[in-house]
This record gives sequence, structure tokens and C-alpha cells, in this order.
Amino acid sequence: MSAMTIPVDKLLNLDRMRVELLPYDDRLERRELDQIQWLVVHCTELPDMAGARQLGEKILYPDSRTGNSGHFYVDRDGSIFQWVSLDRVAHHVSGFNRPSIGVELVNRGRFPNWWDTTSQQMTQPYPEEQVEAFLGLLDALCAALPGLGFIAGHEDLDRRMVTSTDNPNARVQRKMDPGPLFPWDLVLQRTRLRRNIPQDQPGPPAAQI
Ligand SMILES: [Zn+2]
Repeated sequence: MSAMTIPVDKLLNLDRMRVELLPYDDRLERRELDQIQWLVVHCTELPDMAGARQLGEKILYPDSRTGNSGHFYVDRDGSIFQWVSLDRVAHHVSGFNRPSIGVELVNRGRFPNWWDTTSQQMTQPYPEEQVEAFLGLLDALCAALPGLGFIAGHEDLDRRMVTSTDNPNARVQRKMDPGPLFPWDLVLQRTRLRRNIPQDQPGPPAAQI
């Protein structure tokens, strides 16, 4: 961890959070904290945290030797992990990384046949412990980052369709997370952040998302 990230992480003041930065954290692009306006909610669409970590550590961009991940991960039992520093741009949402924080909830989603026409229901609920931990993280981030104003689901920001993996004539949503079981009503009652889609707000043009 670089010295600069320590005060930022301490601002969050979360007893239950463990900081386990990805090996490439310091190779991700740097940003100023006041550039952060959005919090993007994801689910991992994987069975457990170990699988998510494996995917997060995978190098996908040879030039920068970095990969895809959120900043924070919340497990089903309410444990919270930070994998990317807030002053680094994580790759978690196409076209919208720079102004946003990615928060990933462990949930199977459509695993393991994400793009099969037969697996487009997301049936695993989000346990109360996980939702409460997520809300605690949200509070801490809102307190630490006055510029943070909006919350969106990954599904709000990436609406692309792809050809399904079991039927070449059918198309499915590329991203559906966090999906219909995420308790938006409760979350929006408990936070000052407003759910919004980026076409209405400063951000990249819709065509890039
Ligand atoms: Zn996502």
C-alpha cells in the first residue's frame, strides 16, 4: 500500500473491512478523490469470494499489467474487503470507470452459463448481513467523499446485448448485475445517494457505455 492511500482508507473507519489491495493496485491510473461522483453496484456472478479474487488478479491488459475488479467486495456474511485504492481507477464498468467506485457483492447471478438463454434469472437472494454491511460501507464512503452523489447498478450503465451462448439467433443482456433481487428501495431509503442513469448527468456520452 502506498503512503498516500492510508489516510483515505482510514477515513472509512470500518471495523469489518480488510484492506487487501490487488498486486497491480499501484499500476492503475491515479485520480483525485474529488473526481468521484458515482457508486456502481455489482454482483460477482460467481459462487464465492475466492473465485472473485482469482478473476480480479488476472492480468487482462498487457500494457499496464492490470485487470478487472471493483474497489470493494462484500461477502454474504457481511465481511468487507478493499482491493483497489480510492485514488486509483478500477476497471469495473465499461466507459464509466474514472468518476466511479465499484462495489461488488458476492452473488451467483447467472453462474456458470452467464449468457445461456436458459439461465437469465438471477435467483440467489442478498442476505440481510450482506445488505447491512453494504449500507455501512455506503455511509462511510458518503462521509469520506462529499462529491459522491449518485448510485447506479451495472445493469443501468451497460445495456449492451450479446449473442447467447446456446442459441445463435437469440440475444441476452451482457450485464444484469446486481439484478432484480437487489433491494433498491431499502438502499435508497437509507442513503443520500440518488439512483440515476448517466445520460442525465455529467459523464461519458451514452454511446460509450
Ligand atoms: Zn458488474
